[in-house]
Amino acid sequence: MSINSQAQNNSDIAFEVSFTEPQAHYVDVEMTINNIKKDDIILKMPVWAPGSYLVREFSKNVEDFTASANNERLATEKVRKNAWKINTKGKKSITVKYRVYSFEVSVRTSFVDESHAFLSSTGVFMYPEGSLNQPSTVTVIPHKNWKKVSTGLEPVAGKKFTYYAKNFDWLFDSPIEVGNQDVFEFMASGVRHEVAMVGGGNYDKEKLKIDMAKIVERETAVFGENPNKYYVFIVHNYLSGGGGLEHLNSTVLGASRDGYTNPKTYQGFLGLVAHEYFHLWNIKRLRPVALGPFDYDNENYTTNLWIGEGFTAYYDNIIVQRIGAYTPNQWLSVIEDELNAVDNKVGNKSQTLSEGSFDAWIKYYRPNENSNNTTISYYMKGSLVACLLDLQIIEASGAKQSLDDAMRYAYNEYYKKKGRGYTDAEFKAVLEKFTKQNLDQFYADYINGTKSLDFNKYLNYAGFKLVEQATDQTKPYLGISVSKTNSSEIATVSRNTAAWNAGLNVKDEIISINGQRVSNALTYVENVAVGDELDFLINRDGIMKNIKVKIKTSPSKKVRMQQLESPTEKQKAVLEKWLSL
Ligand SMILES: [Zn+2]
Repeated sequence: MSINSQAQNNSDIAFEVSFTEPQAHYVDVEMTINNIKKDDIILKMPVWAPGSYLVREFSKNVEDFTASANNERLATEKVRKNAWKINTKGKKSITVKYRVYSFEVSVRTSFVDESHAFLSSTGVFMYPEGSLNQPSTVTVIPHKNWKKVSTGLEPVAGKKFTYYAKNFDWLFDSPIEVGNQDVFEFMASGVRHEVAMVGGGNYDKEKLKIDMAKIVERETAVFGENPNKYYVFIVHNYLSGGGGLEHLNSTVLGASRDGYTNPKTYQGFLGLVAHEYFHLWNIKRLRPVALGPFDYDNENYTTNLWIGEGFTAYYDNIIVQRIGAYTPNQWLSVIEDELNAVDNKVGNKSQTLSEGSFDAWIKYYRPNENSNNTTISYYMKGSLVACLLDLQIIEASGAKQSLDDAMRYAYNEYYKKKGRGYTDAEFKAVLEKFTKQNLDQFYADYINGTKSLDFNKYLNYAGFKLVEQATDQTKPYLGISVSKTNSSEIATVSRNTAAWNAGLNVKDEIISINGQRVSNALTYVENVAVGDELDFLINRDGIMKNIKVKIKTSPSKKVRMQQLESPTEKQKAVLEKWLSL
């Protein structure tokens, strides 16, 4: 699309990116700044990428930073880990050059090699301090063998591979793929969609166009409008891939190169498409107050990732069901699996959803060997909370409304009318409006507390009950996992298990049990009885130790969702609405 030429002429910041040494993983950046009115200018690079809640210190990859005016070198000084001060000597225009080492494969970090370049903008571009609202242009000069550029940024009319960003938030939210990607397009909900496939794969383009268009249409129906004219999916196909990152009018997805013909892997891919696309509303536009405008220098704290991520995770599965790629039974078994996973997660009793969200920066994104004991996933538990609220809304409205109506209302109210994010209290009020309930206790128990979700109560609205499966109390359980590369080495110890109580430690090398040499303690323990006391010989940092371990049974439980034999008319109506039949 061409853009308003007025806006274009007003952009005083122009970037040019080129690739003189792609094989060594460098992108070369030249930044020209015009109309400078100060003697000192500070350029900064963000420390994190919105959507991925970890300070990544992108400036660690910057090299050879120089500034000049009319080919005369200017003095520069590093003043912060991510900031450079330039003395402009009164010059109105300056040129800054630097290189960025780009060799981290992920959806939120840049990667360059001889085959292609993926530029994650927060780790490539700098902004003049105090100028986040300024527009800029980016001109990409592909390496000699590369032919294509894919990005959500607006193309500038008449200038090949030149793009316009109306402010730095848009620039930082627009990744750029350069290379020989396989590009195809489809229209859905009045929006032109580009799919850029990188790295090959056994995908069927025609099938993808149909299924992805259905996802777009079903999600647009949830919110009542699609705010974009153009949207780009950048798909990185790896030997084994997963994960994605959402942006305002684009997304980056990691997929398994040859997984498209495997039905389960393909359902997973559609779920990922549905997840990242749903984010263009939920979190990118309908968002907690802390998530935009962003502070690019520091952590941006929110207690609401269980809404931004958890609700999105709930919808990604529902949407796959709504387009017919999951049967209703497959979808219900996904919910059942999540329920069991959350119930059996030890950390579910330690961390609340709001804490999990707030501490994402130091916990979820920085897991360690003890994380399973201390953290919950705001994706999975947030998804189950969304499920409860969905059922409550359907029940309260006599099967006329669902969580869709609450999401559409919140989008209109906060993003469209007020033009800002929601506070914790405001989102709670939206949920109360649609569930027709005071949610103080619900929040105290499930959002700010660690009480187990009362699924039975809510499932009953749809004519289901939870049945606890009898667990085998004679089954021995040690409570460790072992290292993937060395099955003698302990990788994790689960809270309140035999191993935990006895004092087996992470990194202990298990040499023998009851005098027998073992290569994998888990296999050995399968054949002992609950109550047996085993004599472990372990190597801890070069010192041999004997540890007695009294074997217990596994604390994990399994529940199944079972349909009631004769559901009422109301329960049938709730189920029908829930499944969007
Ligand atoms: Zn997400």
